Amino acid sequence: MHELSLMTNLLDAAVNAADGAPICALRVRVGPLSGVVVEALRFAFEALTPGTPAANARLDIEETLPAFHCPHCNMDFSPPALHYECPACGAVDGELRGGDELELIAIEVPDHV
Ligand SMILES: [Zn+2]
Repeated sequence: MHELSLMTNLLDAAVNAADGAPICALRVRVGPLSGVVVEALRFAFEALTPGTPAANARLDIEETLPAFHCPHCNMDFSPPALHYECPACGAVDGELRGGDELELIAIEVPDHV
């Protein structure tokens, strides 16, 4: 399961961003075409966080929709899974513009005020 190595990278990025502070939460954006299994990602998070600044952190996962752009009618659309025809002209060569992402979008650290 490659989610373990993916989560290792996300955690590294979060720990670097927190600069030594304990991390309250990680917010991660996962696209449906990323090939990432959200449950496996959560499992990897539970397995990897003990002993790190993210030991007690919450994992917030934001799942996105696929985003396509049809070059024929210049339309942006978000098709249901495994159904990528343009809803306007039926073209199947739409350009993928989103939905395959896996990225750390935010971390929460405690207020030091
Ligand atoms: Zn089209």
